[in-house]
Amino acid sequence: MANNVAHRIRDDFPILGKPMNGHRLAFLDSAASAQKPQVVIDAERECYESYYANIHRGVYSLSQQSTQAYEAVRGVVKRFINAPDEREIVFVRGATEAINLVAQSFVRPKLGPGDEVLITGMEHHANIVPWQMVTEATGAKLVVVPVNDDGTLDVAAYRERLNERTRFVSFVHVSNTLGTVNPAEEMIALAKAKSIPVLLDGAQSAPHMPVDIQALGADFYCFSGHKTYGPSGVGVLWGRLELLEAMPPYQGGGDMIRTVSFEKTEYAEPPQRFEAGTPNIAGVIGMGAGLEYLEGVGMAAVAAHEQTLLSYATEQLKALPGLKIIGTAPQKTGVISFVMEDAHPHDIGTILDMDGVAVRTGHHCTQPLMARFGVPATARASFGVYTVGDDIDALVSGLKRVRKMFA
Ligand code: PLP
Repeated sequence: MANNVAHRIRDDFPILGKPMNGHRLAFLDSAASAQKPQVVIDAERECYESYYANIHRGVYSLSQQSTQAYEAVRGVVKRFINAPDEREIVFVRGATEAINLVAQSFVRPKLGPGDEVLITGMEHHANIVPWQMVTEATGAKLVVVPVNDDGTLDVAAYRERLNERTRFVSFVHVSNTLGTVNPAEEMIALAKAKSIPVLLDGAQSAPHMPVDIQALGADFYCFSGHKTYGPSGVGVLWGRLELLEAMPPYQGGGDMIRTVSFEKTEYAEPPQRFEAGTPNIAGVIGMGAGLEYLEGVGMAAVAAHEQTLLSYATEQLKALPGLKIIGTAPQKTGVISFVMEDAHPHDIGTILDMDGVAVRTGHHCTQPLMARFGVPATARASFGVYTVGDDIDALVSGLKRVRKMFA
């Protein structure tokens, strides 16, 4: 994507035109949550203003219209990740809920003492804690693949840890802290060769690269709407239809049933079986608008744009004395975690904020990964579709100011 296209894209995001502490806003925290284009804001407002009603239950026109708009988003998601069937698209609150759903409904009933669930050392807490909960409850064991010094996974160790006791594998496609793109296809194929089902956490891949879940070969994939330029509180679990059909519900309530009596309740088919209660209707519609916005830009163009920025930013940051980048894998998305001599990440973040530069500081919900690299926290700059060279330049000049203050 040419720089002028990225500048035009910036204009689609109202918040990016607002000054921050008297400066132009350089928003470099898209890995935590992306800003929203006007089309997403409009789609959600339009729903509330023009056709909002509860879905699936009303015979009146408004309810039918909102049901149609909500259900149409399954088609958008299907296209976006190249899913075979709309019935495989379950709307959830986000990646966290998707992983918990799979852990409780699909994996937990299969676990017993001595069984193993395999994850990696670079998981977000959302892909650690749900597995601790189900393994602790069943006497199973959580096994972890180590991370190499450059922030890649030790794939040989992964291969060794896949064994006859492994009941499930769950790993992150792209690390939110390091930006590492894991060799997902290869890792999934290794597990599938041993008939071990796999969940791929796509929270950081869906917004940044073309995703073809059929080519990847996983059994489950998930992402969050708020990172794909949509609203917060909505997300997607994709699962193979035959697996979803065999899974018990995760939560009970309205809308997930066929019939209810005190003697016996019959559950609805997927995806309704996993969508108990009134969902975030306008949020799902907004998420659809966000995905269509990304499709309009083109995911290949998004990925190429973020690669250009990554090379530019990495070069600039490497040239700063006393700055160390954590995570130097050859395959990365637009995420740079770093530490600086003598300056705590929180101080870095506070000083940058004075210049209108927003970066995340802390453990990024990956405390075991922080421990692996021997740091309590990092500062992290992460890019999105609207990031431009000026944002990187603002970051670099802010970091020079930090250095002057602390050196
Ligand atoms: N997995 C990864 C890799 C993430 O980066 C995140 C969020 O930062 C999550 C899972 C959890 O996503 P959410 O908080 O939207 O449920």
